[in-house]
Amino acid sequence: MPSQNPVFIPGPTNMPEAIRQACYMPTIDHRSPVFGKILHPCLNGVRRVLKSESAHIFIFPSTGTGGWETALTNTLSAGDKILAARNGMFSHRWIDMCQRHGLEVQVVETPWGHGVPADRYEEILKADTGHVIKAVLATHNETATGVKSDITAVRRALDAAGHPAMLFVDGVSSIGSMDFRFDEWGVDVAVTGSQKGFMLPAGLGIVGFSDRAMEATKTAGLPRTFFDVNDMAKGYAANAFPYTPPVGLMNGLKLSLEMIEEEGLENVFARHHRIAEGVRLAVSAWGLDLCAASPDLYSDSVSAIRTPEGFDANQIVSRAASEYDMAFGIGLGEVSGKVFRIGHLGMLSDALMLSGLATAEMVMVDLGLDVKLGSGVAAAQEYYRHGSR
Ligand SMILES: *Cc1c(COP(=O)(O)O)cnc(C)c1O
Repeated sequence: MPSQNPVFIPGPTNMPEAIRQACYMPTIDHRSPVFGKILHPCLNGVRRVLKSESAHIFIFPSTGTGGWETALTNTLSAGDKILAARNGMFSHRWIDMCQRHGLEVQVVETPWGHGVPADRYEEILKADTGHVIKAVLATHNETATGVKSDITAVRRALDAAGHPAMLFVDGVSSIGSMDFRFDEWGVDVAVTGSQKGFMLPAGLGIVGFSDRAMEATKTAGLPRTFFDVNDMAKGYAANAFPYTPPVGLMNGLKLSLEMIEEEGLENVFARHHRIAEGVRLAVSAWGLDLCAASPDLYSDSVSAIRTPEGFDANQIVSRAASEYDMAFGIGLGEVSGKVFRIGHLGMLSDALMLSGLATAEMVMVDLGLDVKLGSGVAAAQEYYRHGSR
């Protein structure tokens, strides 16, 4: 029997009961004003979460990966040059997708645990005097390593070089959980999905396009059909999709956006930060280190925790599942077996987070790690308790 323990994976995240119910709705005519009453609040709400006045929002029946493909195929042509940093599994997969689409990627290899190297970007962009580079990729929050990159610094690198390349940002595990400033950062395409900060099941790929990115669709040569944003825009104008929309999920998204606005976007970010700080204090009480190399890189939506040399971190995840029915994230790619991940985004509260920390402690003690029961929980409690604020 599945328990109702929360999950602590960095997506899909826990679903508020009201959102679950909103997804479960009777069939409606998806080419009618009834659907428009779901569609348009979703588009407007996502735009506000992105802190944008004018971004063109598109919602596909897809996931974040489909959002990457939407970004690339609508704006670029085969052979176009792209600049990207590889600092974790998600940035790696986006680079791989570029290559499979015939794009030429200049990859800046970056140690896992570090952020997007804006200074290297600046050097490369300055050297590209012919403006051959068409787009710069940045993964705002590397979910594999728990590293948040400074997108302002990437924008500054582009501006310092006077370079016209578009800026594409993967915000799949940050948007709706951490501050994201589409307009201020001069983002051209932002990508996210439904199953992380928006607390929904997987199934929606969500993107924001700038006017410049929309302009680029006119000359972009990569083939696209399902993910064509102009077909989508035509559909939206008639309260429809070019095909059948996932109405229930979008009804859930509408409610999710209302809940985020009711709590207040800044309060949502502050809650994520507070919960994350408690996790970080627990990690340090356990005597362990984060994969993220320095505090400015710490992610407020996921922590990747290094385990001692010679210990297989994946054991923590499998034992938590088999003995305590609780889900944590495994290490991916280069850090597989070296880290386990605690996802702390979405509908979590301080109290729920304490249950995750308490369970992680039991698992680590079971496995013989030198961790004292209650140590991390107490550190987080001291931080979360109201007397201290
Ligand atoms: C989850 C995630 C993705 C992939 O999204 P899917 O919805 O699984 O396709 C991409 N990038 C980041 C940073 C993610 O966290």
